Amino acid sequence: MKNLCYESTSNCLLKCPYCISSDNGVMKKDHYLEVIDFIDRLLPERLVISGGEPLIDPLLKEKISLIIKKYHEANKEPYISLSTSASQAITEDMWSFLKDTIQCLDISLPSLDHNTYTKMRGVDLLDQVLINIRKATNYGLNVRLSIITTKQNYKELENLLKFASYTNVNSVRVGRYFPFRNAYNVKDNYELPETTVTTIIDDINNGKYKNIYNGKIIPPIRSLSMMEGYLNVDFNGMLYVPNKDGKEIIGNVNDIDINTLELSFKDSQPKIFIKYKEK
Ligand code: SF4
Repeated sequence: MKNLCYESTSNCLLKCPYCISSDNGVMKKDHYLEVIDFIDRLLPERLVISGGEPLIDPLLKEKISLIIKKYHEANKEPYISLSTSASQAITEDMWSFLKDTIQCLDISLPSLDHNTYTKMRGVDLLDQVLINIRKATNYGLNVRLSIITTKQNYKELENLLKFASYTNVNSVRVGRYFPFRNAYNVKDNYELPETTVTTIIDDINNGKYKNIYNGKIIPPIRSLSMMEGYLNVDFNGMLYVPNKDGKEIIGNVNDIDINTLELSFKDSQPKIFIKYKEK
């Protein structure tokens, strides 16, 4: 398996109106040992750890350490990308741990404007995010900025790329808003017309922003069908893939047959798999 996303907690400091993770429910029990046992059987080439907010998960260090141990026991090196809003203070101890263990810190930054940030995140924690981005690059982490483009912020793309340049982040991923799962309910406030998304994609692919930011810019995907091979596992051990109706549950880590799973993803995963790109 090339790619797996582990939604490791439901806890989060933000209140994004379009939060797609909220339909996982609230974590009552953390089934991380079962999930890590599943990861051990699968050993994906790239593991994304997301949430909720993984950096407020009290078990984050234990989980990452255990995952790395499993890879090393199989004589493999993991590629762990931690997906975070970076909206909370991060201790020196945690920075040092992240520097030693993960391969990519993927920080979402939808805006540099406090009003827009609040419209998208529900809470204004922008200043802390900006502090953390600078700290992450100063620590020498491989930092990717994730910018989800919506009606609220798409005009800011150039400014965000300028910010990416002077903070020296390693890469930028420009995402798009899909009206699926909980995001469907507020799509009128956020979803961009297809023509605008196409322009953003074409501009990036045609090098429009090269003189602003010379790192790798990953454009939005053209359609939701490109996410079909994106395997997710949540903190309950439920496995699912996104589809146009939201998500399709395909099983649980405790009863899934790994060989069948690998086979069923053989063709769809390479479409969405993006291994690390560095400056
Ligand atoms: S940061 Fe992510 S998990 Fe938290 S509210 Fe926003 S979309 Fe949901």
